[in-house]
Amino acid sequence: MLDWMIMENRPYIIAGPCSAETKEQLFKVADCLLELGIKNMRAGLWKPRSRPDSFEGVGSEGLPWLKELKSKGILPHTEVILPEHVKLCLDSGIEHLWLGARTTTNPFLVDQLAQNMNNQVKVVLVKNPIAPDIKLWLGAIERVQKYNPDALVIALHRGFSTYSSGKFRNDPLWDMVFRLRELRPDLTFLSDPSHIAGQAKLISNISQFALDLGINGLFLEIHPDPSKALSDAKQQINLEEFKSLVKQLHVKSLVSQKNLEELEKLRTQVDEIDLKLIKSLKERTDIIREISKLKKDHDLQIFSYERYTESLASRVELAKSYELDPKVVEDIYRLIHSYSVDLQS
Ligand code: PEP
Ligand code: MN
Repeated sequence: MLDWMIMENRPYIIAGPCSAETKEQLFKVADCLLELGIKNMRAGLWKPRSRPDSFEGVGSEGLPWLKELKSKGILPHTEVILPEHVKLCLDSGIEHLWLGARTTTNPFLVDQLAQNMNNQVKVVLVKNPIAPDIKLWLGAIERVQKYNPDALVIALHRGFSTYSSGKFRNDPLWDMVFRLRELRPDLTFLSDPSHIAGQAKLISNISQFALDLGINGLFLEIHPDPSKALSDAKQQINLEEFKSLVKQLHVKSLVSQKNLEELEKLRTQVDEIDLKLIKSLKERTDIIREISKLKKDHDLQIFSYERYTESLASRVELAKSYELDPKVVEDIYRLIHSYSVDLQS
């Protein structure tokens, strides 16, 4: 990790507008960042939008603006989608690039982009793909690293598309970050609370939460006047909001300086409960095997839809009466049930 990742107790931050709109807009944002001692700025020139009639960015017209920002001491970051974008950026001295969530899903395209970077880039942020597919995310990171051994390649978490209309624009599925970290403990991770949230009022909570999970820093959308933004207006925060957010955020320590005996005691209790859970699961599994044998002996079907829906509903009711999250208990039981079905196959 580079020494500029964490300054004292402050997280590493890259912030700027969703899209570069005008030179004036970028310079207003840059002044705000410099006031806070932040050098890293984001600004999208080419915007991959879902619908063809939306604002698709100023394109290469904005390259001279980014170049000028560099002379003010700003490090501009922008998204590259087509291989030609990489060439245009490098020709303008823009060496901090990111791959968007739609790009990461396309291995051939990632390969071409990575090749065009030609080890001339400093930092490449690789957003997670829109679907929760760890291999695709990891594969994109590996492809970028393959052709750019000297670059810092960062895993950028922006949440995942779901069909449910939950509270987030993109479901964070934090577990995906832990899984990738398990596979690649050497990687640096940033979170993108703006694209997770989809709305400005959630940004500060998600930002602190990401840091509390040990994520190294944040990638944030800020705009001098979010209501007039040409893309992602609802999720951008204004410069004053950003200043107070930066002042509030703090990186907590992982281990306590004091010997926290109470924490150790509670952790031991959790370990003991987990042991009981595993033992119960083992007991349950043994009974399932007996059931399986009986069904075979009596030529009975494995799956009873009625029994499945009834027992699931009763577990969910039980969860409610014990003040547990019914959705979580439901998910656990669906998993346990599918394990039981597999045991009988
Ligand atoms: C962006 O960062 O503005 C962007 C387009 O994000 P994503 O690729 O996460 O949708
Ligand atoms: Mn955006």
